[in-house]
This record gives sequence, structure tokens and C-alpha cells, in this order.
Amino acid sequence: MSSVIELRNLNKRYGDTVAVRDVSLTVEPGEIFGIIGPNGAGKTTTVEMAAGLRRPDAGTVRVLGLDPQRDGRDLRRQVGMQLQEAALPDKLRVGEAMRLYASFYPHPADWRELLDVLGLSAKRDTAFGKLSGGQKQRLSIALALIGNPKVAFLDELTTGLDPAARRETWDLIESVRNRGVTVVLVSHFMEEVDRLCDRIAVIEGGRVLAVDSPAGLIGAVSADQRIRFVPETPLPAGFLSGEPGVSVDASGRAVVVTGGGDLLFTVVSALAAAGIRPRELRMDQTTLDDAFLALTGRHLGND
Ligand code: ADP
Repeated sequence: MSSVIELRNLNKRYGDTVAVRDVSLTVEPGEIFGIIGPNGAGKTTTVEMAAGLRRPDAGTVRVLGLDPQRDGRDLRRQVGMQLQEAALPDKLRVGEAMRLYASFYPHPADWRELLDVLGLSAKRDTAFGKLSGGQKQRLSIALALIGNPKVAFLDELTTGLDPAARRETWDLIESVRNRGVTVVLVSHFMEEVDRLCDRIAVIEGGRVLAVDSPAGLIGAVSADQRIRFVPETPLPAGFLSGEPGVSVDASGRAVVVTGGGDLLFTVVSALAAAGIRPRELRMDQTTLDDAFLALTGRHLGND
């Protein structure tokens, strides 16, 4: 089956600002595809070009085989878009907004059920302007899914939600994907993309720095593991010095051993042979944030 989304050499500038430089990406059917990067990286511009909301200066976009510029009408029926700030008239009630949006699509979802899933049933008669930030966010997700889309673009899905609502939203996105929807998720939450995404594009300065699974991105940074422990008695001189690729830093209270292979077994065996009991033994895993740091030279500042 061919890709659901194909972006080829997309470029976009706003005046002197180059927002997107030569971005090429493909998203496969049924994937949850993440786009991460710092503010201003070009994530929203990329997604808006894919969804047909912005015209690229150069490059081609195909979504479900359609060209958003040429086949916009056809495409809009099959694509759901959650915008960063869902701007609805303040007086429009939640139920009215859902009915209105449902009327745009040939085969809409049951909007009452969608409100129920998103915990908004009790707000059905509440005006948009009276909703909290989190409720507006959930409504924007509901509106993105109302048309039973084949592809959903979700921009800053859980920004403004509390941790519990964020987790519930993740479950919802997984259930959406399990119904066969391809999901493109713009996020600056590492935990979110790590948990949800099959593949992630790391974008900075309008360029794609890497595309891989979370495990692939992490694996590319370092195959090394790090083990820390506090030895109950001092380590013998030359501890683990005979092990290739293993380095030991015993300068502090905690000893830090870095290396690849079956490092935990190597360390624990050597300690046992020396009759030393490790206290506070801990193994540090490389995280997606480490991978991001290695790619971009900075942490992704989460709020
Ligand atoms: P992100 O979604 O990663 O935060 P954006 O795609 O929103 O990045 O923005 C990329 C760059 O383009 C930024 O430098 C931003 O200031 C600029 N930009 C975005 N939209 C506009 C616009 N409508 N007019 C001028 N500059 C814009």
C-alpha cells in the first residue's frame, strides 16, 4: 500500500524568514507519526502545508494520493485538523459546534458519542467562551475527529491539559489509530511522542534532522549504558580495567561505569568476585530527550 502522506522537498518562507527548508517525509497507513522540535522549528507550517492550509513555495504534497491545492475539496472530507487555537465564536454552544462541523462531512461520526469519549457531554449546552482551556482543547480534538477522517493532523494535542487529561487523551488517540486512522501529531512533549508515536521526525530550523522510531532515535545516540552504585568498601585498583569498551569513573561517592554489551552482568560479576556489595545500584537508560539533545545540541524546553 502506498504512503498516506508524501511530502517532497517542501520549502516555505514568510518574508525573510525561511520556515521550512527542503522537508521530505512519508507517513504510512495506520501510523502515529510525531513531529517534534522547538518553537519556531517549522512544525506547524509543515503540517499546514500537508493539510492544504498553506501553499508551499516549492515541493510537492500528496495526501491519500491527492494534491491539497488541486483536490482540496475532496481531501478536506477525508482529513481532520486540530488547530493550535480553535477559534470558535464565543457564543456558539458545544453541541451546536459539533452539529455544525458534522454537517460539513458526508459520513460524520456520532458527535454525542465523541463528546462522551472526550468527557464533554455535560458541556453540550455551554457556550465556547465559557469553556476552560482544557475543555476548549478537548473540543478541538472532537472537531478534528467529527468527520471520521482517514488522516488526523493534531497540533499541540495536549498543551494546556492536566496530566490526567493528557493521559486520557493519549488513550483516545490510540483508540483512534486502532480504528485505522493515520495520525500526525505535532508535539513538544517528549513523553507524549515517546509513548504514542511509531515514528518521529525531529525538526529544527525548518529542516528534518532525523526520522526514526523512538527506539531507533535513542539507539542512534549511544549504544552505551551507564550504571551507578556506591561500593560498600573501596574498589580494588584496576577494577574492570581488563574489560574492553568499559570505562570506570570512581572519583566521586558513586562509581559510574559506562559501556556496551551486557554491562550489568559484567559489573555485578566483577563486584561479586571482589566481594563488594553495591548500594544504590541504578542503571541509566538513554532517553528520547538525550537523543534530541544529541541531534540539536539542546533540550526540548517543556513547560
Ligand atoms: P513551530 O510550529 O515549529 O513552532 P512554525 O511553523 O509555527 O513553527 O514557524 C516557523 C517559523 O515561521 C517561525 O520563525 C515563525 O515565527 C515563522 N512564521 C510562522 N507563521 C508565520 C506567519 N504567518 N508570518 C510570518 N512568519 C511566520
